[in-house]
Amino acid sequence: MPQFHRRRLLAVFGAGLAAAVPAIAFAEGGAEEEAQAAKPRPKPKAKPAPKPAAAPAAEAHAEAAPAHAGPPSVAPEEAMSRLMSGNARYVEGYSAHPHGDAPRRVEVASGQRPFATILTCADSRVPPELIFDQGLGDLFVIRVAGNVVDDAVLASIEYSVIHLGSTLVMALGHERCGAVKATAEALAGKGSPEDADTRIGALAALITPAVRAVPTGSADPLDAAVSLNASHAAAEIFAGSRPLRTRVLSGQLKIVSARYDLDDGRVTPTRQA
Ligand SMILES: [Zn+2]
Repeated sequence: MPQFHRRRLLAVFGAGLAAAVPAIAFAEGGAEEEAQAAKPRPKPKAKPAPKPAAAPAAEAHAEAAPAHAGPPSVAPEEAMSRLMSGNARYVEGYSAHPHGDAPRRVEVASGQRPFATILTCADSRVPPELIFDQGLGDLFVIRVAGNVVDDAVLASIEYSVIHLGSTLVMALGHERCGAVKATAEALAGKGSPEDADTRIGALAALITPAVRAVPTGSADPLDAAVSLNASHAAAEIFAGSRPLRTRVLSGQLKIVSARYDLDDGRVTPTRQA
């Protein structure tokens, strides 16, 4: 799919930026793809084993590399079910660790069809492939402290849905999030002096609306802010992208928010659009 990625970048970011940064490639490859794009395409390698005739619609799409997306990977409800089933295995200590072996690596090397997109915190204790018991090519993951939405994050989510066929977007906050906690402390006038001259304030600004929305007298203001922050992210994704909104309204896509419990490993959905 290399030429496909290149074309889409030009369309999305404009020829000027793409020319200035010629090695950009969103999902696979980079400079190597640029070189490949200038050459005649080699014929696809033969598969190690024949596939059943009814199954390979998505794979055929990946190899044909059309200029537009193929069918969604799975129905949104099925995507949600897979995530929650994987989380249940993880919580109960029966993770299957699927799709992590060499054959899977080879299978997805030529193209990806992740069934879900996860926007979550960069926190080292919240790795999506582990907590949802998924593997290579299953999840399109965007991680940033405080799981906030900015243009780059939203563009990444749009790409995963429109071009890779993901049918579920989950904004996932987590218990005792340091980014949310730091924002609350800064708003209370107890910010860290070590954050002076950093960009941490810019991140906190994106989390501030959630912290301010916590009801007075909340039993656990930090946890309430974590859930509100994830809900806000889901709402911003919905409001900020007309193509995604259109897919939600036609039932092709779900955008949900959820909270991850650091203690027991459980993911609890909190809102869906
Ligand atoms: Zn966090």
